Amino acid sequence: LADRLQNTMAKIRGKGKVSEADVKEMMREVRLALLEADVNFKVVKDFIKRVSERAVGQEVMKSLTPGQQVIKVVKEELTELMGGEQSKIAVSNRPPTVIMMVGLQGAGKTTTTGKLANLLRKKFNRKPLLVAADIYRPAAIKQLQTLGKQLDMPVFSMGDQVSPVEIATKALEHAKNEHHDYVIIDTAGRLHIDENLMEELEQVKSIAKPDEIFLVVDAMTGQDAVNVAKSFNEQLGLTGVVLTKLDGDTRGGAALSIRSVTDTPIKFVGLGEKLDALEAFHPERMASRILGMGDVLTLIEKAQTNVDAEKAKELEQKMRTMSFTFDDFLEQLGQVRNMGPLEDLIGMLPGANKVKGLKNLQVDEKQISHVEAIIKSMTKAEKINPEIMNASRKKRIAKGSGTSVQEINRLLKQFEDMKKMMKQMTSMSKGKKKGMKFP
Ligand code: GDP
Ligand code: MG
Repeated sequence: LADRLQNTMAKIRGKGKVSEADVKEMMREVRLALLEADVNFKVVKDFIKRVSERAVGQEVMKSLTPGQQVIKVVKEELTELMGGEQSKIAVSNRPPTVIMMVGLQGAGKTTTTGKLANLLRKKFNRKPLLVAADIYRPAAIKQLQTLGKQLDMPVFSMGDQVSPVEIATKALEHAKNEHHDYVIIDTAGRLHIDENLMEELEQVKSIAKPDEIFLVVDAMTGQDAVNVAKSFNEQLGLTGVVLTKLDGDTRGGAALSIRSVTDTPIKFVGLGEKLDALEAFHPERMASRILGMGDVLTLIEKAQTNVDAEKAKELEQKMRTMSFTFDDFLEQLGQVRNMGPLEDLIGMLPGANKVKGLKNLQVDEKQISHVEAIIKSMTKAEKINPEIMNASRKKRIAKGSGTSVQEINRLLKQFEDMKKMMKQMTSMSKGKKKGMKFP
């Protein structure tokens, strides 16, 4: 998608106002991205409508192309739709604060119970009590006890012959006696929403009077998540959502749907099976993920502030006319550098997180300084016309820049490759621009 979107962006570059046609074209891509990410159809429809209304006719900011301007609106609206950052957990003024975990079987309730307890202790220095109130799933109690042991935290349980309501009642008494400031109740789930389950949860709720009711949802359930969230919310009144298994390769479109259907904030995301794999929910990151663009939006934003749009245009012109020289190369290098450490930048590129091995790819700042030194040691003629570079010139430059002939050869090769690539790019886009002549 990112490529397609960028093509579209490139096409509608250099206009003063965002036109309806611009937006329409971009929205087609955004719509596809959202649907591919499993966002509910109706949510997508409303979203596109709202963004289009807002984007059309906007003045294009000086530093932006109309395409970037539209992306900006898309991002803002997506972030807005998912709510601000709301990873707060209630604090009752009459401790203990009670958190009730609900959700379907296998969503990650028990695991998240452990993760939350871990977070509460580590970050807020709290003393939580874990309560095993899932009496149906075989070994559910044992699972929570195992987590408790790993965390070195107490787990309250009464076996599986006692009703969850009674377990909750006794657990609260116990928590008060033992001065626990948090109680996290791990409840049972079913494979599907059913009446008995809901009734039982309502009973536990009326006894335990939880300050928070967190719905735990598997991010990979996609469309289904919406119905699940809706009925849990209607029956119990949720205070927050935890989206688990975001470490998988799901795009997480469920987040968007859940938020807009239940109007309940997503507070945390689960990023693995380990007990520290729980993070605050970041709407902006989620927006990028849903659009499948890595952090390309952030990249655009960074570029907005650092790369002068006029200069970029000039550069584009040079690429077209093939008068791109080593001086331009150097300038571009400088601009890229202004955007921050190269590692960060590369990490933001679309698809970069998918490229295995990328983590091992250390962008060598030293190497870049070498490139700079080499170019600065070239004469004007050499910069414009690298073909004249012979052995003695290379030796001179190597000496002047404190590098080696080998490095210079490598750079020359890179430069040639880059020019070739530009040539291909420009010949591809040639036919599309109207009223412009190319040399
Ligand atoms: P419950 O039935 O709702 O209590 O679900 P569990 O807590 O037992 O979790 C079901 C499975 O999902 C277990 O194998 C967990 O290890 C796994 N799980 C839970 N949260 C995450 C997560 O954020 N990422 C990954 N990869 N696995 C998770
Ligand atoms: Mg469980």
